Amino acid sequence: SPVIGVLALQGDVREHLIALASADAVARQVRRPEELAEVDGLVIPGGESTTMSKLAALFGMTEPLRERVRSGMPVYGTCAGLIMLADKILDPRSGQETLGGIDMIVRRNAFGRQNESFEASVELRGVVDGPVEGVFIRAPWVESVGAEVEVLAEYDGHIVAVRQGNALATSFHPELTGDHRVHGLFVDMVRAAW
Ligand code: GLN
Repeated sequence: SPVIGVLALQGDVREHLIALASADAVARQVRRPEELAEVDGLVIPGGESTTMSKLAALFGMTEPLRERVRSGMPVYGTCAGLIMLADKILDPRSGQETLGGIDMIVRRNAFGRQNESFEASVELRGVVDGPVEGVFIRAPWVESVGAEVEVLAEYDGHIVAVRQGNALATSFHPELTGDHRVHGLFVDMVRAAW
């Protein structure tokens, strides 16, 4: 089985490890460049993207991560992880830098105060057997995408899942449900690139 890392600087790492393991991958935490070098794919979890970006810099991970994403390592970002994969954020906090990899502009905390956290059924292109339950927690949405980006899902008129080459991202958190079909899709991407 392919070895898939979960970036373990901050965020809901454990849930992703469990979801990946049940989707037939060997899952392990990644915190250092040496650990990153050993994985076939990487998940960037949900959490807080400003903190995650600062910790990535502190751990000397920003450039190694950019390098591997640029060279085509399969990567999947959920929520804060989607923000990390954006080439551009509309409202970055000071000191917040993304890794990039997906030609998209992202709006953080986009669904607003009234609707900070909610669940909604989402049809996701590439996932068969019906919609997935989307858990949205202070979720971003994708404001716009470039020509190379495939939109996989929209909710309420906003883009909430995308793919560009080997990079996959969702605004919501499939790792918080018992349904691991989205992780299965990512494991298939890793196998195809393996
Ligand atoms: N709002 C968070 C951020 O900007 C993302 C929230 C999440 O990952 N659940 O990073």
